[in-house]
Amino acid sequence: MSEIDQSGGILTIDLDAIVENWRDLSKITPCAAVVKADAYGLGAAKVAPALAKAGCQRFFVASFDEAVALRPLLPEAEILVLNGPFPGGEADFTAHHLIPVLNSPEQLAAWGAFSQGKWPSAIHLDSGMNRLGLSAREFSQIDDKALKAAHPVYLLSHLACSEEKENPMNAQQLALFQAMRQRLPEANSSLANSSGIFLGGDYHFDFARPGAALYGVNPTPEKANPMRQVARLEGRIIQLRCVDSPGSVGYGATHAARPGQLLATVAVGYADGYFRALGGKGFGYLGETQVKLVGRVSMDLTSFDISDASEVLARPGSFIELLGERVTVDALAGAAGTIGYEILTALGRRYHRVYVGGETTC
Ligand SMILES: *Cc1c(COP(=O)(O)O)cnc(C)c1O
Repeated sequence: MSEIDQSGGILTIDLDAIVENWRDLSKITPCAAVVKADAYGLGAAKVAPALAKAGCQRFFVASFDEAVALRPLLPEAEILVLNGPFPGGEADFTAHHLIPVLNSPEQLAAWGAFSQGKWPSAIHLDSGMNRLGLSAREFSQIDDKALKAAHPVYLLSHLACSEEKENPMNAQQLALFQAMRQRLPEANSSLANSSGIFLGGDYHFDFARPGAALYGVNPTPEKANPMRQVARLEGRIIQLRCVDSPGSVGYGATHAARPGQLLATVAVGYADGYFRALGGKGFGYLGETQVKLVGRVSMDLTSFDISDASEVLARPGSFIELLGERVTVDALAGAAGTIGYEILTALGRRYHRVYVGGETTC
């Protein structure tokens, strides 16, 4: 018997869909790929090489460790580390040919002292998020010699509200970034994340840094999703319960069960990243039938009302689609009161993972 036959959930990740999403975005503007947090939970070791094969040459991760893990899989590509080095870590970066993103005057000074103009860096300018990056004032206070020593080949900034096209903060951040980059016009500039790509050409600069859109999250929440769905999660039914007398379902007895109701208990729960907040709100598909999540999500189990589903599929071993074409990552996030990013990065470790595609060359 294969491993699949015992897993509570099967997570299928379509590498071709990720590659297609990257290609579609790259038709709008040149794109790096953000593969931090294990490619948003989907497996950077599979995703990044598939993108590299398709022509992607620049990758962003958050941490040094993520970069080191990817380096042997991406021998040719540039790997930029968003968090930059912690004090004293500079030599480790160059040992792995990583490009640090310098976020503060301290990181910049330390890199400059180490690099002496030899090893390249990216500078992150804070255009309004007050999170990471040098503020306009801090940037202006760096003297020319120190700036040169840090050898910045890229200038980055990050948008706070790019998924809200009409938000005035977008234009404010754009204007501040444009002003700040005057100091280093020769550096390649990048402002747009996934949603920023859809704000128009002014936001494109030299390249964009999409993450979420590669993985199927809608970068234009006010419009139909232009991206392909990437992840499909199927939860397996362990047992059926035909309710014979009035009662309740699950912890807290939050759902009133009625006689005649057919319930399916699926072997996926909040320990798998199937959020507890989906209790009473989630849904799935058994065959062609939409089935409602009833009661609370348990650690390892979730119940669905499958009274309306095809009798053929109503049996232990059948799979309920919990994420996919019909339960999109954004729809699941909406039901859980969160964003698609959190759904993906929480996807559990107990699922049987299947990767499809990713073999294409161009
Ligand atoms: C995570 C991240 C991105 C990617 O953002 P998405 O919204 O997922 O496209 C781009 N740039 C920076 C600095 C990030 O931290």
